Amino acid sequence: MLVRDARVLRSGFNEGNMRHDPTAHAKVVVIGEAYSLLQVVTLEGAALYCTLQPCGMCTVACVWAGVSRVVHGAGRTDVNAVYFETRHANTVDFIHDAFRSDIEVEGSLG
Ligand SMILES: [Zn+2]
Repeated sequence: MLVRDARVLRSGFNEGNMRHDPTAHAKVVVIGEAYSLLQVVTLEGAALYCTLQPCGMCTVACVWAGVSRVVHGAGRTDVNAVYFETRHANTVDFIHDAFRSDIEVEGSLG
């Protein structure tokens, strides 16, 4: 769910299987829809709320979209038993590497 100024901009879910598109993760879907709906060039000031720590692709999408805050529930290692991979890049590291010190990330450190 993408929120700005106490207003839900878009909410969504993973549509990869439905669209036959492996890039259609919920975060990418809602960011794309928000840009299209709002006709904006940045989502500065927006917060992305998600169940699981964003993957690398979704994290970089947040960086490029200008999302200001990411709040996630479970960390990747919290769900390794059911997740498709055991190795992962940390969202905070990705954001730091992208020189975006202004994105706030909250969530499980797992
Ligand atoms: Zn993702």
